[in-house]
Parts: sequence; structure tokens; C-alpha cells
Amino acid sequence: MTHSGFVSVVGRPNVGKSTLINRLVGQKISIVTPKPQTTRNRILAVANFPGGQVVFFDTPGIHQPQHQMNRFMVEAAVGSLSQVDLVALMLDAAQPSGRGDELVLKVVKKVKAPVFLLLNKVDKVSKESLLPLIDQWRGRHPFAEIVPLSALTGDNVDRLVVLLLQYLPEGPPLYPQDTLTDLPEKFFAAEMVREKILLFTREEIPYATAVRVDAWEDKPRLTRIEASILVERDSQKGILIGKEGEMLRRIGSAARQELERFLGSRVFLGLHVKVREHWREDRRLLRELGIEPPGD
Ligand code: GDP
Ligand code: MG
Repeated sequence: MTHSGFVSVVGRPNVGKSTLINRLVGQKISIVTPKPQTTRNRILAVANFPGGQVVFFDTPGIHQPQHQMNRFMVEAAVGSLSQVDLVALMLDAAQPSGRGDELVLKVVKKVKAPVFLLLNKVDKVSKESLLPLIDQWRGRHPFAEIVPLSALTGDNVDRLVVLLLQYLPEGPPLYPQDTLTDLPEKFFAAEMVREKILLFTREEIPYATAVRVDAWEDKPRLTRIEASILVERDSQKGILIGKEGEMLRRIGSAARQELERFLGSRVFLGLHVKVREHWREDRRLLRELGIEPPGD
């Protein structure tokens, strides 16, 4: 008999949630960068194992929101908790625990489903420091399991899979084996562009940027995609375009190469930078970007 169910992975920004999920799914489904708040949407990712299927929700990091957009991001993470069979709270074992973890723990304490604690990034800490950390957290919440691991190197990830399947209900797969996600290709195209922007720019640019796909055309040997990059100010537009368009070309070419691998076809990617002063407060746009939860 196989097991299957929904698992939500939550935690502060940048602890490694998306890295773990990509590893388990075996494909980059969620963009990963060294910057906090990379993930803005709730992303469903299906992972198949000999013992069953785990349907993960990757979630935006739980943090104190400053913008309407961030309020929706946190709602997406918190809202996912009541819909799953199991919650995996992830911490960065290499970072001292602070108010950010307190906030996440408070949220998780309301959950009825079993909660696993994942102590990630063990590749960065000594074995000796791990045991006191486990003890400290054991005292703070009756976690069903505490699993030290490294999403980056894969250390102990097999053990996590065994435990997850043990706790999930018996049953057949919830999605066909070849399903990766419920999100449209359009979404991933926008995310790949956004990832390159996050990687190549600094300071406020990553947070002030959104990517929207405006047109998509599947031709016999070419996928034609037109996308807007929205920023809040003229100065940001200047940075994104760069000297003689150099930055925009760099972003476009890196995103296109990745999209070609992802879609398995040649891609034409047209990028247009536009100023939209208050886009982070614009509910219609946030809904178009899938950041505002549907039905709100
Ligand atoms: P998220 O915001 O929680 O989804 O975090 P990401 O998956 O985007 O990862 C944030 C950063 O942490 C990236 O630079 C990852 O490469 C890095 N990272 C994730 N897991 C590990 C790990 O196990 N060890 C180390 N050393 N780095 C990691
Ligand atoms: Mg993420």
C-alpha cells in the first residue's frame, strides 16, 4: 500500500524551503536565490517515491509584512496550513534563532496536523552544536519529528522522505505521476525572468520588481513570449535596462536559456520594462500575478 498527502513547508524567508522541494521533486520548480522573499506564491510541487506521493506546498517566508503584496504572501503561507496532512517547519540551523522563528512557531502552534521540525543547512554547522539545538527546540513544541538535514547536499533527505510517508495517510497518488505542479507554464516563465533579476541586481531592485507575461504564442518550432518587468521608479527602470541595454540583455538571455530547457523548444523572449509606481499595493495586478489568493 502506498501513502500520499499534502505537506506544507513553512519558515522564515531564506531558510531553504524551495531548495528542499526542488530536490525532492527532482526539478527546479521553485526559483531559489540568496535573497529573502524570493518565493511570492504558494507553489504546488508533486514528488513521487516508491512508497507513495508527497504533494508539497512551497510557501513564501513568514515575516512581518510591509506592503499589501507581503500581506498576501504571508496569508498564502499561513492559509496553506489548514489544508494539509502535515506541516514541515524549516529553520536555518546555522543562524541563531530570533524573533522571526518565534513568529513562525506561533503560527504553527495553531495547526492540528502533525508538525515536523526540519533543521536545515547542517552542512554549515558542527555535529556538536546540533544536539543542543535539537534539545532546545524539543522543549518549545511537541514536534512529531525533528529532522536535521541539508537541502543543498541532500544529507538526511532520504530519512525525511521515509518519515513523511509514514505519517501521510494510506492511499493512491493524488496526481498523475507525470504531473509536476498545478501552475501554468506562463507562471514559470515569469518566475525565471524574476529569478535572473534577483540574481543580477541588488538592494531594493529585487523587491520592487514584478514580472508579468503579456503574450504567449506556441509556433511549430518556437515559443514566443512577451513579458513586462514592472518597477516602481524611473531610476529602477534605468538600472534594469542598464548601459546601452546591457543588463536587460543579460537577464533576457539567461532566462531564455533556462526557459528553452524547461519548455524543450526554442524561445523568443521579449522583455519590456515599465514604471508602475504602486504596483505592490495594486490588488488587481497582484491577483493577475497570482499573489493575491483567489476568491478574496
Ligand atoms: P527559501 O526562501 O526558504 O525558499 O530559501 P531558498 O531555497 O531560496 O534558499 C535560500 C538560500 O539558502 C539559497 O542561497 C540556497 O542555496 C541556500 N541553501 C538552501 N538550503 C541550504 C543548505 O542545506 N545548506 C546551505 N549551505 N545552503 C542552503
Ligand atoms: Mg522560497
